[in-house]
Parts: sequence; C-alpha cells; structure tokens
Amino acid sequence: MINLRKISLQVSFMALTLSLSACNEQTTQATQTGQASTLAQTLEEEDRQAALYDQADSLWYLENERAKRLAEGAAAPESIIQSSPQSKREVGDYSFTQPPVPPVSKPGQLLNLPDPGTTPRFTVTGLQWPANVGDLSISMWAKDKMAAFSLTIDDNHVQDHAFWYEMSEQYGWKWTWFLIANQIGWSSADHWGHWQKALDQGHDVQSHGQTHLCDALFYTFREYRQSQVEIERSLANAKVRSLAYPFGINTDKRGSPCEPLTSERTKNSRAEAAKYFLAARDVYGALSSPAKIDYLKVPSVSSSRNFLNPQAPWAYFDSVFNPTSANYRTWYVVHYHNVPNDTAKNEVRQVLAHLQAVEDKVWIAPFTQVAQYGQEFATAQLTNVQRTANSVSFQLKDQMNDTWFDQPLTVKLRLPDAWSGNLSVQQNSVSRSVRTVVNQDKTYALFEVIPDRGLVTVTY
Ligand SMILES: [Zn+2]
Repeated sequence: MINLRKISLQVSFMALTLSLSACNEQTTQATQTGQASTLAQTLEEEDRQAALYDQADSLWYLENERAKRLAEGAAAPESIIQSSPQSKREVGDYSFTQPPVPPVSKPGQLLNLPDPGTTPRFTVTGLQWPANVGDLSISMWAKDKMAAFSLTIDDNHVQDHAFWYEMSEQYGWKWTWFLIANQIGWSSADHWGHWQKALDQGHDVQSHGQTHLCDALFYTFREYRQSQVEIERSLANAKVRSLAYPFGINTDKRGSPCEPLTSERTKNSRAEAAKYFLAARDVYGALSSPAKIDYLKVPSVSSSRNFLNPQAPWAYFDSVFNPTSANYRTWYVVHYHNVPNDTAKNEVRQVLAHLQAVEDKVWIAPFTQVAQYGQEFATAQLTNVQRTANSVSFQLKDQMNDTWFDQPLTVKLRLPDAWSGNLSVQQNSVSRSVRTVVNQDKTYALFEVIPDRGLVTVTY
C-alpha cells in the first residue's frame, strides 16, 4: 500500500510539473494579447497551481514524516491518506469538545474588517505631505514606506530552519511560519522546541490548521480554533491570530488524496476564520489594491516565480511603485513551502537581494503585524486636534479591537519653516521616539502612536 501511495504522489508531482509549464505559456500569451479574459484565465490557473503546490507539498511532507517514524520503529500515526471518513483511528486529539469561545468579544470593536468587495476603503495616493504647519497625516504603511512585504512559509519544514535563520540574520527581517499544529512531534526531527526558538527570535508563528483539513473528524471550526489553542498552549508567548487556509480558501481538494475526507463540514470558510483570526492568508496569486484587501482572504504569490517578472503584472513586485498599476502601494505577500535545493534557495536569495535594494521604500514585516497595521489604518481617525504656536495634541482612534490591535501607526506632522530643533512626542504622558524627514525643503516629524491609547501631544 505504501508503494502504491508513493507512486500516486509521484504521478501528482509529474502532473504538477506539466501544469506549471502550461501556466508559463499562458502567462506569455496574456501579456501579448492583453485580453482581460485571458488574464482572468491565467490568474485562475495561477491560483489553481498554487493550491495544487500547497497540496502536493503538504502531502509529501506528511508521508515523509510518517516514513521516518516507521523507520525509527515508532508507532506511526495512521496515514491521513488511508484514513476513512468513518475511522476513529486518525491521528489527532479528539478531546477538544468545549464550545469554541471567540478569543475576543468586546462589543463595538472589530476583530477583523468585512470584505470590501469592489468598493475601496480609502483613496490610494502617493506619500502625503501635510500642507500647513501643525497639519497631520497617517501613513498608509509603517515608517511612511510606499508598500509592505511579508514572507510566509507553510507546513512544518523544520529542515529549512537553518536556511531561513541565515537569511533573517543577513537581512534583519522576520518571517511568518504557518504550522499544521497536529503534525508537530510526528518525528523526532520536528518538535515544539523548534517553533519556540523561531518565536523567541522574533518570528511570527501562526496557524495552518490542525490537520491541514485532511481529517474527516476535524470540522472547520476545530481545524481553526483547536490549532490556535494548541499552538498557544505549546509555545510560551505565542499569539495565534492569523491563519493560512490549508489548500487555499476555494480549493475543493479535488484530485487530492484528502478528497475522500472532504465534506461540507471540512471546507475552508471565511466566516469561520473571521471568528478566531484577525487575518487569513489565501494562495490566490494576484495582488490587489491596498484599499481593497480582504484581510480574511489576503492574496499571496506562490514562491518567487513572478517576483522579478515584469511580464506577470499581477505578481511583479515593482508594480507596487507604479502609480498606474492596480497594485500600487499594496501589501505583497509571498508564500513558500520547502526549499529543497540550491536552485530554490538561490531564487529566495534573489528576491531578498531585490528587497534590500528597495528597502527604503518597503516595510518588510511579518504577516500578522502588517495585517494589524492595514486594518487599523483603514479605520483610523484623528480627532480632537488642538494646536498652539508650538504644539499639537490629538487622539488617534480606530475601530479595531484594542486587545489584538496594538500595532503603532506612523503619523507625519508638518513642522514650521523656522523650526527651533526642539521636538518631543508623548502619548498618555509616555515619550515616544520621533525623527524628521525633509521633502521639498519642508521638514516633517515622523512618529508612531498606538490607536486608542490616549492623548498624543507633539511639542516643537
Ligand atoms: Zn499547506
């Protein structure tokens, strides 16, 4: 049976490789004809391929882990592939019987924003330069950068940690790992200690479901909520607030070995995710306007395929700097799985080297942090603004839940032309750091304040 399964997986990989070649052809065609319908087809194909990749890779991983356990002589968990929907013998903890308590239930505050559909939440402009002395603006992204970028890694590829740590140290950026909670500990090579280390080093450790939706008894709410509970229980200081949908939100697992385990009760659901997470990542590869991001369905580009490819405008990174692009100033999210060889690692290195070259214009931060910022910004308001000759005080408010949304927003203030050089910012009587920037001979203060955390006073 094991051999048969391996053959079946190999066939899937062959089909995947063939499909990827077909996808590249479609990409070229879309650029040449510029036809909207062709582009839509291409995007659909990208989406399908990304989900297929996620599926093939996850299953490869799970089978590999199972094989390792068998080799070690340990009692192997029942294969997800061979499990029948009725079986009670699947891996996993079925003792999660308490009702799902929403992690935050504070009235009048949002855990996440509703889907904006086609209606932009705000007007996307270039960087703001407040016109008059004492005028304020809230920056669309932290540090007043033009765009944002997050690198995410799916499934439990501990064998790649050394590589990702090396990259993190080289560039000073942090990554987001989405874990399949139930699979940790399947082999001696993978244990919670690895993920505690990632968390302790400042990386973002979040949920990729409890069983990758490959267990008939893990209904959707348990996939989401139990993984959240389990990761937070297993890792000190973990705050699991983001999800990456296993297979991508719209994937029906058709053709996957997990297909026999599929039912209406084990499908991804935006509504379910919205109960437990402030954001959820999809595998859909086309970027969207920053004003129309659905934070419960954040698009992400698969690996590095089109990052540097101007012929693929939906996923070409530098389109975030192009005012005529729909992706202008957006949040670019990429997702990786394993990086099995030097070719894959070099692709990552190329992406990171390019990001470093444009880092003055791009906020590079973990997924959850950017999702917090984006939703705070979309609902932020400056109120009670009061000015004197040398000070401005104001309140910064948003509609997001204060317990989960503690990401400071960057605020910009126009200083007088004959500015004395004195500058201080206090929020709720606590000093906050501030720096100045010059644009067209005018000087501006840039500082960070947390929404709904009290009065802000800037003295200059
Ligand atoms: Zn996955």
